[in-house]
Amino acid sequence: MSLLEISDLVVGYGPHPVLHGLDFVVEEGELCVLLGLNGAGKTTTVSTIAGLLRPQRGQVRLDGQVLGRSSPSARVRKGISLSPEGRRIFPRLTVRQNLRLGGWSQRRSPKVVKSQLDLALDYFPRLAEREDQLAGTLSGGEQQMLAVARALMSRPRLLLIDEASLGLSPTLARTVWEVAARIRRDGTTVLMVEQNAGALPFADRALIMEKGTLVHTAVGEAIRDVNLRETYLGV
Ligand code: ATP
Repeated sequence: MSLLEISDLVVGYGPHPVLHGLDFVVEEGELCVLLGLNGAGKTTTVSTIAGLLRPQRGQVRLDGQVLGRSSPSARVRKGISLSPEGRRIFPRLTVRQNLRLGGWSQRRSPKVVKSQLDLALDYFPRLAEREDQLAGTLSGGEQQMLAVARALMSRPRLLLIDEASLGLSPTLARTVWEVAARIRRDGTTVLMVEQNAGALPFADRALIMEKGTLVHTAVGEAIRDVNLRETYLGV
């Protein structure tokens, strides 16, 4: 059984769907990259998985269990956590306070909060150096790291990362992808939304989206295929 299974997903913001019957799976332990150009429907997809949007049709299953109409917070408790596009950190709170809020669902287990905090700061040493700094004063790259670190605080089974590389220098984008790969190696399944094909070498599975549908899936070595880049991504 796949960890995440999306079937026949139709989602829109009004009467007109943006996702037209999307189907894909993510296996436990994978780093999966969902690639597509602007407006392909990537954010809509991960927002639906996180419970922020309701599908008009179709299902999201975690471990075979239909998530149905469950709320975003219920999904966090089930193990789904989202690092959203645009970061959405709390600028007037410190780095540590932002992280502690990310651990809200684990608040009755101080040991878990502490171990996740240590882990997040280990993944992103730059944040460790800035624990007491107001998040709004961090650089763009550091704020992106904080958004990913905050999402990790709930100890997810499935971490959704929406466009971590947006607006980052190539070096910083690479740093974030390397950490995503490390998170996966440490046992958390990762679904990463990207417009940047530079993320592909880090993926176990690549899903290419166009206009609200999946046009290609590649697993393992097939991801390295140059034709994949040329045909679907124009690079
Ligand atoms: P991007 O990288 O630009 O975020 P994306 O692949 O994530 O692109 P989505 O953000 O999911 O794409 O958008 C898919 C389509 O849905 C686009 O045509 C967009 O204009 C539309 N859309 C997104 N958000 C809304 C909204 N809140 N209200 C109405 N339409 C929306």
